[in-house]
Amino acid sequence: MDGTIAGRLARVTAEIATEARLWDRDPAGIDLVAVSKMHGAEAAAEAIQAGQRRFGENRVQEAQGKWPELKAAHPEVRLDLIGPLQTNKVRDAVALFDGIQSLDRESLAEKLAAEMARQGRRPACLVQVNTGEELQKAGIAPREADAFIRRCIEVHGLPVEGLMCVPPADQAPAPHFALLADMARRHGLARLSMGMSGDYAAAIRFGATEVRIGSAIFGARPPLVSSSSA
Ligand SMILES: *Cc1c(COP(=O)(O)O)cnc(C)c1O
Repeated sequence: MDGTIAGRLARVTAEIATEARLWDRDPAGIDLVAVSKMHGAEAAAEAIQAGQRRFGENRVQEAQGKWPELKAAHPEVRLDLIGPLQTNKVRDAVALFDGIQSLDRESLAEKLAAEMARQGRRPACLVQVNTGEELQKAGIAPREADAFIRRCIEVHGLPVEGLMCVPPADQAPAPHFALLADMARRHGLARLSMGMSGDYAAAIRFGATEVRIGSAIFGARPPLVSSSSA
């Protein structure tokens, strides 16, 4: 098996196409977002060389250290924030990212709208839904999501294009994907960001229009705390 980033990208792309056809979907309707968090600029550059154009990062600060130069050199690259956004990072996030997939609360919606107006930049927004209602997880609660989505669009004028979720790690993901797909349909939202390295096949079955894949492309992430690995 090809252990290079280019090789793994090709394999994931092929698997996405296989899954799509299995469920009678056009593979072109499923975008691959390569999640380069905790991997260096060299890894991201290697993926760009291999033809990858969409990337995701989950921390504003980490992305700021990695992406400005890469984006300047490759203006066709699109970078999405897929991790929680603190309101004090909104200015930096609007300046750097082309999309924000973690819109999940009123105070953030307000801040984003103000900052977009100030900078004249409008990164596409996805509302993140905490489908498993996990305390530790970001995302708006499902029962509050309908009203929140409407407010983001009608009150704050945000460019909301779709929904995003991360199902609980210890549950079958399918019901979560189905719930998100239903919600997007109700609101006429076209984009559904769901599915990671471990569950993207199910996400494609339930209508994902973009999957966010990290470890299957870049390999295992280095541990958060440095420790000796024998
Ligand atoms: C890290 C991350 C991913 C990618 O996870 P993998 O399991 O490495 O594919 C996708 N989405 C979010 C929100 C993430 O934080």
